[in-house]
Amino acid sequence: MRKMPNTYQDQTIRLSKNSWILILVFVVILLFFSVLFFFRSEPEYLSKVDIALGTTIKVVVSSEKDPGLIVDAVLREFHRIDKKFSVNEPTSVISMINTSTHPVEVDEETVFVIERSLALARATEGAFDPALGNLISLWGFDKINDNSFQPTVPTDAQIEEALEKSGYEHILLENDVVSLTNAVKLDLGGVVKGYAIDRGIAIAKEMDPKATGYIDAGRDIGIIGPKFGGEYWSIAVQDPRGEGGAYIDVVYLKKGTIVTSGDYERFFMIDGVRYHHLLNPKTGYPVRNTISTTVISPDAMDADAFSTAAFVLGPEFSAVLLPVLGGQGFFVDAQNKVSQTEGWSFFKEQH
Ligand code: ADP
Ligand code: MG
Repeated sequence: MRKMPNTYQDQTIRLSKNSWILILVFVVILLFFSVLFFFRSEPEYLSKVDIALGTTIKVVVSSEKDPGLIVDAVLREFHRIDKKFSVNEPTSVISMINTSTHPVEVDEETVFVIERSLALARATEGAFDPALGNLISLWGFDKINDNSFQPTVPTDAQIEEALEKSGYEHILLENDVVSLTNAVKLDLGGVVKGYAIDRGIAIAKEMDPKATGYIDAGRDIGIIGPKFGGEYWSIAVQDPRGEGGAYIDVVYLKKGTIVTSGDYERFFMIDGVRYHHLLNPKTGYPVRNTISTTVISPDAMDADAFSTAAFVLGPEFSAVLLPVLGGQGFFVDAQNKVSQTEGWSFFKEQH
């Protein structure tokens, strides 16, 4: 007797064959994506270097849009700001204000920059002073990069005279009209780099809100976005007396800015004495109690003014003042002693 075919059993075998194929396909797909995940290429960074504001500007950007366009736009912004706010540029708005015998009507951006500089001067009790133009040019620090620069130490009488023609309280801003009294001259060298970093970040983010990277303007750094979209950038604080890129601290940032003022940036030596570009608005001489200050703050313009002010005010006072103003600081005093604000340690860990 012939056996009836067991249709039910046949079907099971056929079904399980299909299942095996399905499982195999599934495993292959899973394997494919696992390999893709483990060997995925990290976002690539495009970087470009240029010279502006008397220093090297490095812009590093990763974007799914066009990173080259973003980098170029940021660098263009640095050149625009350099031309507009430099004391050495005869056509700059600063030169216009400094040489005018009448009150000068200025544009919205200039109002913003001067207004904020005045606020920063008040907040730092005048340690950051945007009206030190006479003193700075007397020392020659505005021309120190020129080939013809001849270092000389001014006389006490010259310093006294330049001090009399200094002081932010002589900058008058009424709506969009600026006037300088007491023959003071503007010099925004202490904040303009920070302002340019803030603008550069804003432009990069306008072009691609998801762009990541950073802007490094002579070791003043502003973060465009976290490394690879989610990781920290590690940033070294330069050893002010070290050589070959030696550093004395490392912090981790995903956002915000970090700015350093040091007596090693622009200086000349006469008879073994260092004369550098960070001037005490009270004495008219280069500051003697600090050799480097580094400030972390959400905005670079603030950080820039704070680092200049902290340099003048010294570590002890700055350690109290900076956190009140929204900054954290790392200081090296004249004896090479290192100190920090209490909140600095927050940036020493990857949270
Ligand atoms: P750098 O531009 O070298 O990074 P800073 O940002 O600290 O250094 O600014 C220094 C510049 O600020 C000087 O070159 C000078 O133009 C100006 N400056 C110097 N001393 C003061 C001060 N006490 N307040 C405001 N600006 C200052
Ligand atoms: Mg500064």
